[in-house]
Amino acid sequence: MQELSHYVNGDHAKGGSGRFADVFNPATGEVQSKVPLASKAEVDAAVATAAAAQPAWAAVNPQRRARVMMEFVRLLNRDMDKLAEALSREHGKTFPDAKGDVQRGLEVVEFCIGAPHLLKGEYTDSAGPGIDMYSMRQPLGVTAGITPFNFPAMIPMWMFAPALACGNAFILKPSERDPSVPLMLAELMEEAGLPKGVLQVVNGDKEAVDALLDNPVVQSIGFVGSTPIAEYIYSRGCAAGKRVQCFGGAKNHMIIMPDADMDQAADALVGAGYGAAGERCMAISVAVPVGDETADRLIEKLAPRVEKLQVGPYTAGNDIDYGPVVTAAAKENILKLVQTGIDQGAELVVDGRDFKLQGYEDGFFVGPHLFDRVTPDMDIYRKEIFGPVLSTVRAQSYEEALGLAMDHEYGNGTAIYTRDGDTARDFANRINIGMVGVNVPIPVPLAYHSFGGWKKSGFGDLNQHGTDSFKFYTRTKTVTARWPSGIKEGGEFNFKAME
Ligand code: NAD
Repeated sequence: MQELSHYVNGDHAKGGSGRFADVFNPATGEVQSKVPLASKAEVDAAVATAAAAQPAWAAVNPQRRARVMMEFVRLLNRDMDKLAEALSREHGKTFPDAKGDVQRGLEVVEFCIGAPHLLKGEYTDSAGPGIDMYSMRQPLGVTAGITPFNFPAMIPMWMFAPALACGNAFILKPSERDPSVPLMLAELMEEAGLPKGVLQVVNGDKEAVDALLDNPVVQSIGFVGSTPIAEYIYSRGCAAGKRVQCFGGAKNHMIIMPDADMDQAADALVGAGYGAAGERCMAISVAVPVGDETADRLIEKLAPRVEKLQVGPYTAGNDIDYGPVVTAAAKENILKLVQTGIDQGAELVVDGRDFKLQGYEDGFFVGPHLFDRVTPDMDIYRKEIFGPVLSTVRAQSYEEALGLAMDHEYGNGTAIYTRDGDTARDFANRINIGMVGVNVPIPVPLAYHSFGGWKKSGFGDLNQHGTDSFKFYTRTKTVTARWPSGIKEGGEFNFKAME
């Protein structure tokens, strides 16, 4: 059995706590390695190493720090297949989807190559008589991030790339479900020229997270994961005086107006609802057709597409639409919620409960499910399922559809399918959700814009990546300077003219 490690001070460090978690291959259900769960003492030691390494890194000029990022991009491209394979093996997502996971993180690293420009301060000449004023953006010091299982490459890079480009040290506590890719990323950063101790990976669970929250040297915490943990980390981190941003769960609605291109909408829903087995915080999990006639047309198009989905292991090649879910517990939870949907009166149009894959009977595969006539009081509507289950809620008007999305506790992403610009514009302006797609099903913003949900999907005032991330990972210092006049009067710089 392979034993994974931490990555501390430029080296793999064996776990010392005696506690481990199993890392599965979700396609076969086998335990493929065990990951050490750090003790408080191990976390504190990594923080001390980071604190010692950070000042020298902050003193490296931003252009040189950017060059490390440039080289890191080259190494990510060099090792793309290796990273994607390790990612699929622990997460279960298809190989092309795993490459997308690395690619979307890589794009944030590319954005961070602009650090010299992004870190330029502000300057006011002659703010008063002989007085100049300028603002600088300075790194925070030791920063930390806690990441979820579903994007083990992209989300760590969302955090550590801007943190490091700004001159901070960063401690990553990745998900204990798929820790291999985060460890590989730390090795590659060092190969790219990052000094030892500036980026470290400490594997663990609640004990490691609490140690980061309690350590006064840690200046900021970034978190992405489920909402109850986001709320816990946000409140405890803020109470400890840290800068904190936390991103939580989701229930993303797609509104389908009667004038929408129904083939386009159905294709979009299949990709956004079932891609990555629905284990995406930007997955569409609720379809809201407006009007019964629209709903009937949509279900008629959707059902055969959902039935045709190919579910299998990443090793089966590019024809697979999605893979297994991450653990047996996740599978059980999804199937339990499907049962509550049936019990509470929703109509199960496509039933994936009996899905079995020959040769992979112990894998965590879940067949695709499609519900119609779901109502807002049902558990499958209120809760995040995080599986290949799409619920259809029929609305009788645009206002009712808008109200559904607005009243839901989550506010990560949403989409509208329509040919009418006026409706789309009204929707984008009024909706209380952080990321909006117009005829685009998964509106994940590109690296130079920012990513963040509203309501119970996001806590804190700055988003991830884009210019927000450079604000999150720096403090502003403003200097007001006055130099006494007269010094320059003493010198004689010119030949005096003869009197
Ligand atoms: P999770 O909340 O179970 O775990 C996330 C991280 O928190 C992991 O590193 C885990 O070790 C740690 N953790 C777990 N329990 C903890 C506890 N009691 N105390 C302290 N730390 C703890 O989430 P997950 O299952 O890994 O990821 C799926 C969730 O993440 C979904 O809810 C999904 O919507 C959400 N997500 C949100 C976004 C976003 O940007 N909003 C992006 C991706 C995933």
